[in-house]
Amino acid sequence: MKTLPSTDVLIIGGGWTGLLMAKELSARTPASIVILERGRDRRPDYIKGMDELDYFVRMHMMQDPTRETPTLRHRDGERALPIRQYGAFLPGSGIGGTGEHWGAVYPRLQPDCFELHSATVARYGERKLPEDSSMQDWGVTYDELESFYARSEREVGVSGKAGNLKGKIIEGGNVFEGWRSEEYPMPPTPTPYFSELFRGGAKNLGYHPFNNATAVTSQDYTNPEGVSRPACAFCGFCERTPCMIGAKAQPTSVLMPVLKNRKSVTLRTGATVRRIVHDTTEKGGKARGVTYIDESGEEIFQPADLIFLSTFTLGNNHLLFLSGIGAPFDPATDKGTLGKNLTHQVAFGVQAFLPKPLNRFMGGGGTGVRISDFDADVFDHSNLSFIRGGMIGAMSVGTQPLSTFGNVPNSLKLPRWGAAWKKAAIEWYDNTGVVSFAGEQIPYRGNRFDLDPTYKNPLGDPLLRMTINWQDNERKMVDFMNAKMVEIAHAMGAKEVNAFAPYGDYDVTRYQSTHIQGGTMMATSPDRGVVNTYGQHWDASNLFVLGASTFPNSGSSNPTPTILALTYRTADAIVEKYLKRPGMLA
Ligand SMILES: Cc1cc2nc3c(=O)[nH]c(=O)nc-3n(C[C@H](O)[C@H](O)[C@H](O)COP(=O)(O)OP(=O)(O)OC[C@H]3O[C@@H](n4cnc5c(N)ncnc54)[C@H](O)[C@@H]3O)c2cc1C
Repeated sequence: MKTLPSTDVLIIGGGWTGLLMAKELSARTPASIVILERGRDRRPDYIKGMDELDYFVRMHMMQDPTRETPTLRHRDGERALPIRQYGAFLPGSGIGGTGEHWGAVYPRLQPDCFELHSATVARYGERKLPEDSSMQDWGVTYDELESFYARSEREVGVSGKAGNLKGKIIEGGNVFEGWRSEEYPMPPTPTPYFSELFRGGAKNLGYHPFNNATAVTSQDYTNPEGVSRPACAFCGFCERTPCMIGAKAQPTSVLMPVLKNRKSVTLRTGATVRRIVHDTTEKGGKARGVTYIDESGEEIFQPADLIFLSTFTLGNNHLLFLSGIGAPFDPATDKGTLGKNLTHQVAFGVQAFLPKPLNRFMGGGGTGVRISDFDADVFDHSNLSFIRGGMIGAMSVGTQPLSTFGNVPNSLKLPRWGAAWKKAAIEWYDNTGVVSFAGEQIPYRGNRFDLDPTYKNPLGDPLLRMTINWQDNERKMVDFMNAKMVEIAHAMGAKEVNAFAPYGDYDVTRYQSTHIQGGTMMATSPDRGVVNTYGQHWDASNLFVLGASTFPNSGSSNPTPTILALTYRTADAIVEKYLKRPGMLA
């Protein structure tokens, strides 16, 4: 195996988190930095036009599931099967990672999400904890993260309206959000008709609608690094595609323009990392470098002093399992931590059939109106049979004919084929909107990652296995929210509403969200988590894990603001503490 000269810093994965860490460290230290990304390179102008077939149907931005994919089962004792078709989640590959085709919705987590266990017990007592749940506090609080959230909003360029400015509640913003030290860098994106109908309906029912925060520009914007992006044109091609004009924040339009001028940074694409090589000594563990396969198929050893693992939740878990770093979690004994607390955000929608055309082909990522009245613990759960909640909203991100055609009111009792269905689907195409829900999944002992005993990837390595299912808490939450959403849709003037079917088992064929968390969760002690609150591995002090795999639980909010806030916090700790005195950060 070829061995390359050592580098000071090695970053595995070139998505939001990996590139942000490279940008921060290259600005503030003289360290040599190598980024290894398995996918291809992408320059900011790589996107030439929109093609629904290519991006939405064939999904050419996504990880190739014929080569790398997890297996999935609902419970212990079942044989897991590889997910060979795109379904419940859509991880990316190539420079920019999943952040190239993301939706850009940019909400912070509710403050009590970081203290899920203690906040729930304090308000309702131990008896309210769902059976077999494994909730625990993060060890870092919202207050500690606030300034990092604000920093990310300035850099990424977020449009929105504050609802809680230093404790002052502001109508029109999200009045239930955690306190913010500053207003959003840009005003909210304009409100499309469908979302405006939602605002009216929700208000009439006594709720508190607000324009969603989004990393899409509502006006021309230049961030503190001097990177400029134009105002969004609301072309309707946003989530699942990269942006043609750079209005949606993507790693290639926000971070790469800065990184490309940094001489200390080397970007190697087509480099698939296979193992993190590490030693365990009496003084503790240390990562020595990684082995990777380059584009020609050659296996290479890249030594490094400091390593960041930023390969999304699936990759982070997979590489730690394959490398044998950390003790796998065993639900039978409650021992070990690696793989524990896998969660997937609860996401579904009800279809509202409205009397007027909605012009839904126009829109932009994250554009729309939501309510947080049923989020987190904002509402009293004392007399409810579930805990926690989520946000209900009417987003206008743009719809495409091939991928969204075909919804008709259930009362027509039509099969999804034939002349009558086609006629009705055309008639209703632009009169159908989705009232959507994004909520929390409680972590359970049974839901976890490990290595699949049967299936392997083309390199001969075992696939990552997901054991995941919904439990009663999610099922009851969905029933409750479904009823609220149908009520709101009627208040919007819907002629008819198709409610969502009750939640059964976790459905891997329906896209839900690419908000998968956990497996390498943070904790304040090694017996409770894989990493500390800086993402530093408890068993290897020079190995840091970045991304949502470090979340002990899912929030209702989309994860990227929180993973970027945590990345800044880690970067500060590296520069201000670790590089001066390497070792475990206090
Ligand atoms: C359709 C869609 C919509 C979304 N919408 C939103 C939203 O509205 N708001 C929000 O907050 N979040 C959203 N997300 C989630 C968001 O995209 C992710 O949270 C974010 O991109 C994660 O960043 P990351 O750096 O952790 O991982 P990624 O961006 O996935 O980057 C990881 C990188 O690591 C590389 N890699 C993996 N394994 C290896 C290996 N072995 N060797 C080398 N490289 C490797 C991958 O190729 C990838 O480039 C969405 C995701 C999708 C797919």
